[in-house]
Amino acid sequence: MARNPRFDVLFEPIRIGPVTAPNRFYQVPHASGMTNDLPHVRASFRETKAEGGWGVVCTGAVSIHPSSDDSPLPFASLWDASDVRAHALMTDAVHRHGSLAGVELWHGGAITMNRTSRLPPLSPSGLPWMSTHLGFMGNQRPRVMDRADIRALLDWQAAGARRAREAGFDIVYVYAGMGYLPYEFLLPEYNRRHDEYGGTIENRTRLVREMLAVTRDAVGDRCAVALRISLEELRAKPGKHAESEAHEAIALLSDWTDLFDVKMDSSPTDCAPSRFAPEGSHEPIVEFVKKVTSKPVVGVGRFTSPDFMVSQIRRGVLDLIGGARPSIADPFLPRKIDEGRENEIRECIGCNICISSWHDGVPVRCTQNPTIGEEWRRGWHPERFEPAASDASVLIVGGGPAGLECAVTLARRGYRVTVADAAAEFGGRLRFETRLPGLATWGRVVDWRLGQLRSRDNVSLYPGSAMGIEDLLASDHPHIVIATGSRWSRMLYASTEFPTEEFLAPDVYTPDDIAAGLIPEGPVLVFDFDNYYLGGAIAEHLARLGCQVDYATTAGSASAWTFMTNELPLVHRALGKAGVRIHLLQRVSGFDGREVEIADVFTGAKRTQPCRSLVVVGVRTPDDALYRQLIERDADLRRAGIHSVTRIGDALAPGAIVHAVHSGHRFAREFESESRPEPYRRDFQV
Ligand code: ADP
Ligand code: SF4
Repeated sequence: MARNPRFDVLFEPIRIGPVTAPNRFYQVPHASGMTNDLPHVRASFRETKAEGGWGVVCTGAVSIHPSSDDSPLPFASLWDASDVRAHALMTDAVHRHGSLAGVELWHGGAITMNRTSRLPPLSPSGLPWMSTHLGFMGNQRPRVMDRADIRALLDWQAAGARRAREAGFDIVYVYAGMGYLPYEFLLPEYNRRHDEYGGTIENRTRLVREMLAVTRDAVGDRCAVALRISLEELRAKPGKHAESEAHEAIALLSDWTDLFDVKMDSSPTDCAPSRFAPEGSHEPIVEFVKKVTSKPVVGVGRFTSPDFMVSQIRRGVLDLIGGARPSIADPFLPRKIDEGRENEIRECIGCNICISSWHDGVPVRCTQNPTIGEEWRRGWHPERFEPAASDASVLIVGGGPAGLECAVTLARRGYRVTVADAAAEFGGRLRFETRLPGLATWGRVVDWRLGQLRSRDNVSLYPGSAMGIEDLLASDHPHIVIATGSRWSRMLYASTEFPTEEFLAPDVYTPDDIAAGLIPEGPVLVFDFDNYYLGGAIAEHLARLGCQVDYATTAGSASAWTFMTNELPLVHRALGKAGVRIHLLQRVSGFDGREVEIADVFTGAKRTQPCRSLVVVGVRTPDDALYRQLIERDADLRRAGIHSVTRIGDALAPGAIVHAVHSGHRFAREFESESRPEPYRRDFQV
């Protein structure tokens, strides 16, 4: 199909200093969890995006010196010749598709605790970043940089830039964002110096200016020099000569860079979750930049709609459409727009599971795109599939995330697929969860898959079809996949940190009851030891319906695991706004329909409070009865010509949606396939 001319502007080449991006799709630097120890995994991951049409493909943070060591968080480095070789794999891969390769040279300053290198962290004035989260806490305070340290930093940046050029990069960054070292010099809160690097905005931008200058000297006219800068805090500070210090900083630095890559200051606002921020949420902070500089500007905003992208350009907000998450959820987003297939874009849902992978210290995962990070080690390409090995047909029972993903992938391979679900609508758990506050965007998981399935003639969809064992034995499909999901249990949490037996008292409910439409009588206590989003979302939902809601958790924060997805501070704010009272480090130890007893998890001290309904969000168990009954009927299966019965998704092992999607995808990829690396290809240094 031909591209819609409305989107032509997105495919114009853009000059960035001495290099030219083939179009306006710019995969900005973003964490991938792929260190230099995973050079082939990383090169394939970035190559897929270039193949998918991203005109510029960048690395994540690349340390310029061992004093910028973020371990145990994953980061890349450009410290020596072997690092150059590792990165050259990626630049070659990106160049094969006519795209430019960018490198985000990085020094973390006071934020990096240098746990491996054991060098004292560096900072403008010795002030630490006071993280309140355990995983980010450190007990070493940074030292103050003197002039010799600044000189050394400039030398490291220059050496990093030379190595970057040698590795084949086309765009070389100075990174002054997100709390890292050059950013610390920009902000008066961190920078309390009295020398020429502190005080006025002219002085506070001096280090960045010098870093840009040494970078340009190092790369000559072979590479563009880019500045990545966070503008949220600077924009909040009135300037002396302009509206804000952000305006002044851009004006002062404009002559020194070939490109501005503009962003927010903290991960929850920069990589904002869709629960709390819409597409384009950076615009109110960054929209001024193009008015102050003539240099090209790239920015992000979880852009997945081509019309929204065009409007960013037409309205003069951005020159290049930056994408991190949209490029993970669909590496082929630009190609699909180019080929008039924009309705096939697998849109990012803004769940931030990708970011959680970085916090976990592992290669990136994605709820929408199960192939991400698996390009090299499992050989999964997002758009290419091994053809069906036979004309077998597959019946999938359950049309939740696992069943739908399995069906799409089998269908794309060419198998005949039937999906039956008991409910009137497909979607599984998402039928309910997307109705909770802020979670509507997650419906894209279902919408994209149903769109794919409905467009194919080798797929039959049967909603409203509860399948029993006799139905399955009577069906004429030789392969049956059970994707029947899971159920929430009424187990509580014992003082030994194990789940208890089911707590079968009246007025004790689970999310399945709320999903079925129950509005419990108040006062309600939501007891959450699942600790991901659902407990908090249900508490907010019930409070908005007018219930008096208390929320208790065994963890130290509400929805504690959402720290990993940048949602935690926003969850607390939302619960507070909804009037939900939060009780931390507590477990429910008794409930009689009138009062709930809660115990401190450390001291065991107990107290009671009035409560009419208890909602337990704790442990899920597989809903796999059908599977278990079926495999008991060996002789009947043989008689019915059923060769295989397999469980996938939550019916196999309950998890987040990302796990269900990966499980469904893996089954479909490996079905009747010989080319399955066991356990997966292991990467090696080059
Ligand atoms: P997953 O996350 O693994 O995809 P979900 O719980 O989201 O699991 O979805 C499971 C789906 O399976 C639900 O839509 C449910 O209606 C459906 N289901 C469960 N049991 C049956 C059955 N016996 N017949 C047909 N559909 C079923
Ligand atoms: Fe988007 Fe979620 Fe995938 Fe991240 S994990 S790219 S937020 S869909």
